Amino acid sequence: MALADDFMDVGARATQGAVAEFDLIRRYFAVHAPQHPFNQLGIGDDCALLTVPQGYQLAVTTDTMVENVHFFADADPELLGHKLLAVNLSDLAAMGAEPFAVTLALTMPKINADWLQAFSRGFMNLAKLHRVDLIGGDTTSGPLTLTVQAMGTVPQGRALLRSQAQVGDLIYVTGPIGNAGLGLKIKQGYQVSNPDPMLVCLYQPQPRIAEGLALRGIASACIDISDGMAADLGHILEKSGVGARLQWERLPLSEQVLDYIQSTQDWSMPLTAGDDYELCFTVTPDLASQLSDHVHYIGVIETEPGLRIQRNGRVESLESKGFEHFS
Ligand code: ADP
Ligand code: MG
Repeated sequence: MALADDFMDVGARATQGAVAEFDLIRRYFAVHAPQHPFNQLGIGDDCALLTVPQGYQLAVTTDTMVENVHFFADADPELLGHKLLAVNLSDLAAMGAEPFAVTLALTMPKINADWLQAFSRGFMNLAKLHRVDLIGGDTTSGPLTLTVQAMGTVPQGRALLRSQAQVGDLIYVTGPIGNAGLGLKIKQGYQVSNPDPMLVCLYQPQPRIAEGLALRGIASACIDISDGMAADLGHILEKSGVGARLQWERLPLSEQVLDYIQSTQDWSMPLTAGDDYELCFTVTPDLASQLSDHVHYIGVIETEPGLRIQRNGRVESLESKGFEHFS
């Protein structure tokens, strides 16, 4: 793509002495030819070429991370590379899709080889773990902005949608909630004796790919928890035209989150804080026996719109607002 002079391609600038764009891509991102059979042509031409087998749908998602909005200037680039890919793969997981390819658009103020090396390590290690190929992208100069597009496949008509929850369905979550939220509190100065496990949850979320695949044909609706349980379950409720009641005592909470709640009385933190990247899903009661033992039952879908929580024998209404960029 041609760019205006005052927003020149990193490649064009780099020819004046620094690392050339193509060297940079080759060195850090084009580490091998595509491995996955659906990816017929990867980095190096004008487009990549993909073939989706018959009977499958292509699931596509994009997420951007912007400096000072999603992360701070001092963020560890290796963790950033991991998280950027993780949040995109998490969206595929929430659809029951199996990832196979990603593209990466990098906008950076300057070429910093140490930063790029660490960033690509975090990114490529997670890609390798999930057998995902980086098949293309773009590299430009400007304020640090990181965008990934992720692609996966799902058998025709079997994607897990937000819109199919039914009254009487049971609500589950794949793992503990609130750890990443506590990690953020720790980053902001809240003191705990053992911060590392919470910080790992915040900085190195694991996309629940296997869990999403296992839910095909079982879950009626599914979403990944990026903005917080209340906000994200709220999306399922809205799209499905139903309401829900959660049971506080059933929520899977770590010892550390329980300690935090005991000291601060901030009991709603695990429901309102984001970044957990667990899957929240619904199941009709007759299919519940097919679920793995590792998922946690937390509530039920009801007719009455809105989200409620039953706590100490009382039912309270929960505000389901997540983070909104333009409010
Ligand atoms: P074009 O000008 O035709 O869009 P580019 O010069 O931007 O091509 O990129 C050359 C090749 O390198 C393309 O295959 C593109 O997908 C790939 N590429 C560019 N930037 C990145 C990046 N940050 N990560 C991965 N691949 C990239
Ligand atoms: Mg081209």
